[in-house]
Amino acid sequence: MNRSIASDGCNLSWSLSHAGDNGGSHRPIADRRFAITSLVDHVREPSYRVSFTGTTHAMTHEAKHKCGVFGIWGASDAAHITYTAMYAQQHRGQESAGIAVSNGKSLSGYTGMGLVPEVFTTDKLDQFEGHAAIGHNRYSTTGSPRASNAQPLMAEYGGGKQIAVAHNGNLINAGLLRDRYEQQGQIFHTSTDTEVIIHLLAKHHLSATDPMVDSLQHLQGAYSLVFLFPDRIEAVRDPWGFRPLVLGEMPDGAPCVASETVALDAIGARTIREIEPGEIVTINDDGVTTRRFSAVQTPAHCIFEHVYFANPSSRIFGDTVQIVRERLGEKLAEESHVDADCVIPMPDSGRSAALGYARASGISFREGIVPNRYVGRTFIQPSQKQRINSVQLKLNVVGEVVSGKRIVVVDDSVVRGTTTKGKMAQLRRAGAKEIHLRISCPPVKHACYFGIDFPDEKQLIAANKTLDEIRDFLEIDSLHFLSREGMLSCVTPPPENFCTACFSGQYRLNVEQPVNKLDLERHQLRMFS
Ligand code: SF4
Repeated sequence: MNRSIASDGCNLSWSLSHAGDNGGSHRPIADRRFAITSLVDHVREPSYRVSFTGTTHAMTHEAKHKCGVFGIWGASDAAHITYTAMYAQQHRGQESAGIAVSNGKSLSGYTGMGLVPEVFTTDKLDQFEGHAAIGHNRYSTTGSPRASNAQPLMAEYGGGKQIAVAHNGNLINAGLLRDRYEQQGQIFHTSTDTEVIIHLLAKHHLSATDPMVDSLQHLQGAYSLVFLFPDRIEAVRDPWGFRPLVLGEMPDGAPCVASETVALDAIGARTIREIEPGEIVTINDDGVTTRRFSAVQTPAHCIFEHVYFANPSSRIFGDTVQIVRERLGEKLAEESHVDADCVIPMPDSGRSAALGYARASGISFREGIVPNRYVGRTFIQPSQKQRINSVQLKLNVVGEVVSGKRIVVVDDSVVRGTTTKGKMAQLRRAGAKEIHLRISCPPVKHACYFGIDFPDEKQLIAANKTLDEIRDFLEIDSLHFLSREGMLSCVTPPPENFCTACFSGQYRLNVEQPVNKLDLERHQLRMFS
């Protein structure tokens, strides 16, 4: 998809035409004028400086101080490295993918619908010329899955200055901000929450000493952001640290940032540290500098990253995901022992916890359900119809393992219940004598407004049925969800550092006017579907 945007002051007009595979868009940003009002081109003096020299990492403190994102600065093959990192983070979003590149003077980018290898070919990657790049894997949490919403979003405003942004998370005040800008006559060309950030930056460029800081202070919700400007990358984590974001370094010293450490491992980078909640990390030819945009406060890390979302090999919020999941399984066995012949993981979501459960209970671990590894994950696909089809394709029960056996099945969550019911029926048809389902987190009863796309509460089975009713609905012999206390005992940081709102209903931020997934859709945007 090729886009062009023309502007005359506040009156914006833009056009869009399709060209390329998968609805992809290869777009030199200089061809499009997204002249909102101003430009973000100001970097405040750092509170402290981190400089990279070869593989060494020196730090001098001078004073105070749903999606996957990635960025790298100072690499001749930046687009190819970004592709690899995005591939490693494919589990964080499968609807669309995109890369934006800087050659030091201007930006270019390409986005498309589909998996990373469906969007990018070697030829496409070779077309990028630049030493810096950012990338994005999208699963839509605000805005529908459509080509015009694929990220990185790219824009140009003010005096021809350029910006690209990739966002993981969800802004709960995006609707209010967008309404305000639309009332002022500004035009949005996506239905994502992320676009309001560009408008904020453009506006604050007119008056603020540090437009980035001033803009971020208006945001409420979850945001791990990677911005690309022609002369720098800025990586930002919200003050609550809902989503992970880490800083790394390539063997040749090129700094990089990623949602998860698994992406750094994939490109041969070493992890330096997590980007702190409320921190902006700037990366340019001079090295890495950092500053804060909010006071330090108690974090609200998403515990569901550990339970379900992150790659098991990643290290997030101070713990390795695989180790936490095994601990969840051990705790589950402590809380809900039952006599059984074998422990069977629900592939692949329950495998780590099932290992822990088997180890703690002394019941043998067996692979009784075999996954088809070429079918995508079910939870993050957008429609009920797609989900059911995927489940039928995805799992095959090994009759000899389960027939006549008392089995403990371990999974990481039950959301709607319909998918789980289908899995339990498959086991029963294969001859399982008793089915004891163990879930490595508490019942999900409430919506998430911070980047995980749970269905409406009316569709959450635990919000509408008692434990016994869920057990009967699933037609199983027993059911246990890990307690909230048990879950939080499996991570190293204190319990108060985690968001558990989807289990408890206690949100850390005011969610009286949250933005739901399709709230920012506008009728005229349908022409771009
Ligand atoms: S509500 Fe649940 S899924 Fe959402 S951020 Fe909090 S813990 Fe994570």
